[in-house]
Amino acid sequence: MNCSRSGSSFPVRNYFLVLLLAVTPALAAADETAPARDPKQPINEAYTAKIKKYTTAPVFTSPLVDYLPASKNVPTPEAVLGDVSGAPGILPYAEDVYKYMRLLEKATARVKVFSIGTTEEGREMIAVAVSSEENLKRLDENRARLAKLADPRSIKLDDAEADRLVAQSTPVYYITGTIHSPETGAPTALMELAYRLAVDDGPYVREIRDGVITLITPVVEVDGRDRMVDLYRWHLAHPKEFYPPLIYWGKYVAHDNNRDAMGVTLKLTENVLNTYVGWKAQVLHDLHESVPYLYDNTAGDGPFNAWVDPILTDEWEMIGWRNVADMTKFGMPGVFTHGVFDTWSPGYLMFIAAMHNGISRLYETFGNGGADTEERTLDPADYSRTWWRQNPPFPKTLWSQRDNNNYEQTGLLTSLHFFNENKRLFLKNFYLKAKRSISKPKEEGPAAYILPADDPRLELQTELLQVLQKQHVEISRATSSFTVALPVKKPKKSSKKDDAKDTQEKEKEKEVEPASRQFPAGSFIIRMDQPYSRIADALLDHQYWSPDDPQKTPYDDTGWTFGELFNVKVFRVTDPKVLDSAMERVNEVKPAGGVQGEGAIFAIDNNAEPTLGTLRYRLRDASMEAAEEPFEAGGKKFNRGSLIIRGVARLDFDRATNETGLHATALSAAPSVKTHPVRAARVVFVHTWLSTQTEGWWRLALDNLKIPYDYISTQSVAKNDDLNAKYDVILFPPVGFNSSSTAIINGTATGWGNPLPWKNTPETPNLVGKNDSTGDMRPGLGWEGVAHLQSFVAKGGVLLTATDTSRFALSIGLADSVSVGTSQKMNIVGSVVGTRLVDAASPIAYGYDEKLSAYCDNGPIFSLSSIAGGRGFRRLGGHSASRPTGRGTADDPDFTVGRPGVEAPEEPTAELWEYPPVSDEQKRNGIRVIPPANRARVILRYADNKDLLVSGLVEGGDEIAQHPAVLDVPAGRGHVILFSINPVYRGETRGSYSLVLNTILNFDSLDAGRKLAEK
Ligand SMILES: [Zn+2]
Repeated sequence: MNCSRSGSSFPVRNYFLVLLLAVTPALAAADETAPARDPKQPINEAYTAKIKKYTTAPVFTSPLVDYLPASKNVPTPEAVLGDVSGAPGILPYAEDVYKYMRLLEKATARVKVFSIGTTEEGREMIAVAVSSEENLKRLDENRARLAKLADPRSIKLDDAEADRLVAQSTPVYYITGTIHSPETGAPTALMELAYRLAVDDGPYVREIRDGVITLITPVVEVDGRDRMVDLYRWHLAHPKEFYPPLIYWGKYVAHDNNRDAMGVTLKLTENVLNTYVGWKAQVLHDLHESVPYLYDNTAGDGPFNAWVDPILTDEWEMIGWRNVADMTKFGMPGVFTHGVFDTWSPGYLMFIAAMHNGISRLYETFGNGGADTEERTLDPADYSRTWWRQNPPFPKTLWSQRDNNNYEQTGLLTSLHFFNENKRLFLKNFYLKAKRSISKPKEEGPAAYILPADDPRLELQTELLQVLQKQHVEISRATSSFTVALPVKKPKKSSKKDDAKDTQEKEKEKEVEPASRQFPAGSFIIRMDQPYSRIADALLDHQYWSPDDPQKTPYDDTGWTFGELFNVKVFRVTDPKVLDSAMERVNEVKPAGGVQGEGAIFAIDNNAEPTLGTLRYRLRDASMEAAEEPFEAGGKKFNRGSLIIRGVARLDFDRATNETGLHATALSAAPSVKTHPVRAARVVFVHTWLSTQTEGWWRLALDNLKIPYDYISTQSVAKNDDLNAKYDVILFPPVGFNSSSTAIINGTATGWGNPLPWKNTPETPNLVGKNDSTGDMRPGLGWEGVAHLQSFVAKGGVLLTATDTSRFALSIGLADSVSVGTSQKMNIVGSVVGTRLVDAASPIAYGYDEKLSAYCDNGPIFSLSSIAGGRGFRRLGGHSASRPTGRGTADDPDFTVGRPGVEAPEEPTAELWEYPPVSDEQKRNGIRVIPPANRARVILRYADNKDLLVSGLVEGGDEIAQHPAVLDVPAGRGHVILFSINPVYRGETRGSYSLVLNTILNFDSLDAGRKLAEK
């Protein structure tokens, strides 16, 4: 019996009930359809018996999934798996999952399969729509209605029309599985779910089928899935051995593939985003596995992302708690919501929905990382009862993949049913969230963001705009110059005492009246009166995470401001008049470089745009030089580091600059300025077998920029005693997870256990992909590898390290004059921090301004010492020591009775980013005094404490403020470049990429412009 309170034909039963429902639309009505099967529909006895067999305890299932309805013509998952979903020992490849979905499509008009793109390694991604025949026949009509709700401008923000559309529309509920490859249960659960939704005739499931379009991407990380299945097969073939951990998931990143929803640099993010937005879906529900037994982190802990609509946060609570209640009623233990996960960062895949007017959801169910049935001993933190986990899991659990599939499917079915019951509410909310996004300029603001046409970094500006475009944000360009009032920060509040302040102070306040600014024609305007204004606002605005926030363990990054990290100018404008400026929509933002003027010599101003590196490698035969000083030529000013290029045909150069978005000037004669050659360095990229998570973002950046490199492991470094013969530059990007030097050297213990191979075999055909291979993942760099790195640098090579690999480089003695301090209270959790240029003449700094915002995650605190083996610390010089007790006032000289006073020599002082001067005492037989030429060159330092926080959380920042952030350490005939910041991260930090690329391009001239201290 269908007693749904929703639907266009709302049955008026009694006035009081109608009123009650109108006020509390999401509360369960007593007459909701019972979650039960249709007793008249036969069940598939054999399949049902196996479900029962593989479920390890009766409480780990529900009346929704403890049977399988029979069908004469629709195949069950057994057709492909050879057993039921969740059977022990069975983990299908993505291809097999697709094969089954396509069998369903063939067998029933209630299933349609859509190809939604491919992965980096060329594997297909799909979305499977399951709904009634009627609904699937009318997908286009329905989508047209949903599109109007998604963009209320199309119906002139007419609420009555929206209500009509809401009444006629079928919502889309999008489920995504297995973005995290070691979390293996979702594909089989989703295969069976698709079958149930297509076949089950019980009213509970039929209502879902008739009322909702369920869209399923069973495998999000397809490349990683296939590797994981390989590993599992290896494990089954070697049951008594340890199995290799999944070191590569997708081509580039592992777990971080679920942190890409801001930068959209991975194919899987782009494909899911386009599917979500293209289908005008209302929900994105992403399936994960970690904690027992089902954590619905739809309603997470605080702080909530500041840019989401409160309508959404209410939906989270409503849906999350209801989900717990429904499953609790089935007697299923260990189902909870809220938890400790904060909802601040918009980087998670599910957040695509939160930032595009939908509902983001995420499950963590319990998985065994494979399909073995195992007895699991839980952590006390996982089985303790708390206010948000009233019915916790058991301390010990015999757990199977089937149990996991039961939880996943039961959660999803109850969710879908509840969603269908309340679909008019959720569809209306979908419309309202879009409408409120459009009203943003006149409600909370801002009115727009402006990216000015006179930004010196137009290529990086293009890249930022392209990210917004991938996010389906509309971009406009001013057709003439315009002026807007810019908001000015309020002067600090004065206390009552200060009310009677003098006129001079009041005069000062007047100076901070709103300022206005003129922007040239061609400036880009991101209007906030558009449906997807929230994602643009969230990416472009600044973030502030209070050190006093009750949430002490941020789950992920706390700051990400894209304009800052891309090093491009972004103006937040609250003045709504900006929307009246003359502008046109830009359909596609493309790099637009080119050459001006005539002549056979070309000059390109250096503004630290990463594609300068692309150009160098693209025009391999051209001669390129870098100017060591600023110069003027062809009526233009050029920064230090600008490129002077010869030996390339104009046509080729036109094309190359156009595609790289670089602006060149043709000159008839070379400018007279000191230069050095810029050569295409031979780059090798070193990774460990511990983790490839963080370095993956570096590979992605280099590949996108078309910078060629060899990719080798620390094991290969150990085997190569002449790295200089093949390479000029070694990049050793962060290992991640604050890896210790010991781990880098030792690898994983080899004193016991078996070799852990990572290579393609008939058993594991997909493991290697396009990455690296080894017969045993365990050995690390070893001491031979250490010696090879030392010798590489001594013979003139350049070694570049960041964060944990910088610590490693220091630990093997590559920089006598630099040490790493220990922090007591510093807490900088994935934040954007201020840095300052110290040595603008260094080639590493070419193209940068005095200030640069950078990504920091509790980076190492570098200190400098002029004494070998000395630890750098803040010297308590005369200026900071107070005078001893004696005669006179605090500033007076003291006296000694009975003899004339003696003036003490001035204590030498130095800033934290400078080498402390060597004292006369230290110079006596100064064996350990490091000569100035052997000391590190400080390229960038962290800003002063008051300017350190740009976005996110900075606590105890004084411990790192002013300390070096990027160092160029001379070592032998080579250099070690140490980063405390991470310059290449999640496709978000493109403004700092050039620090790495400058190092590569100037590898044999890094000492250019160096001025040595006297002693
Ligand atoms: Zn996960």
